[in-house]
Amino acid sequence: MSAEFEAVIGLEVHCQLATDSKIFCSCPARPPGGVSVSELPPNANTCPVCAGHPGALPVLNRKAVDHALRAGLALGCQINRTHVFARKNYFYPDLPKGYQISQYDRPLCEDGRLAIQAGDQSREIRIQRIHMEEDAGKSVHSAQSTAVNLNRAGVPLIEIVSHPDLRTAEEAGTYLRALHGIVTWLGISDGNMQEGNFRCDANVSVRPKGSPVLGTRAEVKNVNSFRFVEKAIEHEISRQTAILRSGGKVLQETRGYDPDRDVTVSLRSKEEAQDYRYFPEPDLLPVELSEAWIEEVRRALPELPAQRRARYVAELGLSPYDAGVLTSSAGLVEFFERTVALGASAKPVANFLTGEVARRLNDEGIEIGQSRLTPTHLAELVMLVQAGQVSSTGAKQALGVAWQTGHAMATIVDREGLRQVSDLGELERWVDEVWAANPGQAAELRSGKDKLLGFFTGQVMKKSGGKANPALIQELIRKKVTS
Ligand SMILES: [Zn+2]
Repeated sequence: MSAEFEAVIGLEVHCQLATDSKIFCSCPARPPGGVSVSELPPNANTCPVCAGHPGALPVLNRKAVDHALRAGLALGCQINRTHVFARKNYFYPDLPKGYQISQYDRPLCEDGRLAIQAGDQSREIRIQRIHMEEDAGKSVHSAQSTAVNLNRAGVPLIEIVSHPDLRTAEEAGTYLRALHGIVTWLGISDGNMQEGNFRCDANVSVRPKGSPVLGTRAEVKNVNSFRFVEKAIEHEISRQTAILRSGGKVLQETRGYDPDRDVTVSLRSKEEAQDYRYFPEPDLLPVELSEAWIEEVRRALPELPAQRRARYVAELGLSPYDAGVLTSSAGLVEFFERTVALGASAKPVANFLTGEVARRLNDEGIEIGQSRLTPTHLAELVMLVQAGQVSSTGAKQALGVAWQTGHAMATIVDREGLRQVSDLGELERWVDEVWAANPGQAAELRSGKDKLLGFFTGQVMKKSGGKANPALIQELIRKKVTS
């Protein structure tokens, strides 16, 4: 991005709601046993309603409304007491009815916001609307033909549409992670991006810096990882900037991201929204929400990430950065709470989680729940460090082994020889030996040359094979100087 242009980015996030059954029929949306609908035999998870047989009638799943309402309230939205389902007409093989049931001019939620943390700065991104809709089926392409699998058709979705308030790929990534954090925190979505539970379209345009007019936008469709969203947006910004700089015009179109080549490619020129010919769904009544229903959902909301973050800073003395990283994911915050509940101090636990652990999660692209590390590991490790039995360097090593093997922390520390020697008798013996072997330096240290304290500590550490507790060694050497 050059100095004379700026990017304008808005995100549309499709989030599958974690309800037992689909939005308009009783087919499972989350089959028992933790399998996803895509793992079931093709079209095994369908009925006349979600397969779009003529005359089949939809019945709204109350739980889906509950979940969507939770999202809307947590994101500070206005809730429309009356919201209306609409038919969004388009022809595609994975949509057998010829329309998708969605919401148009009366969505469930409007005008929300989500605060994102960029370093120590907080910025508010406005949310235009959250509407409910049904997921479509899936086209499965092979060399010869295209098959259609409707197992996913009718799984409830919310679409969360932001205003074009984002300016960089990094900011978009931060917003997306925060949103993902909220929906998993609320327990309304599994948020598994590989499974398509949580997917994102990015609207990207570029304009001369300071211009009030929006540039022509391209929509990058269906990107399924945080990193790919950031990369796709970055590529799109540089592509459009190059076109504008050479005097060309950006075309309004839908693009896809090709992660292998790290580029966006044109899929089709953009259909305008009115081409969908939305009209009210005649088979569903407008949904009337009572004030009591809304209040009941509001009361049941958990403490939200932003509130939790503030509390961690105020009550536990964590830095805003650490508190921000911890509360960015329901998994991480639960891991933190469980570790602290086992008796470890909050600050060092937070340091490990936002440092060493976050780095490993990032490198491997996994969630904390998928790692072998447990709260028990981390609690024991933090307590060993605080008791002076393991050095901070040794702790990193022990954590690495626990990460790889999942073995008990005490076993790791002993087997890897990471336990610091804090036995005074043994330490004294080493100090005496080093002291006797270096009479010249001993005399200088006695005469006030404090720099030599480091020399003696180093010698004793060497003698102990790195296992002596350095704080205790220094104490013993000081005693020697004054004796
Ligand atoms: Zn069905």
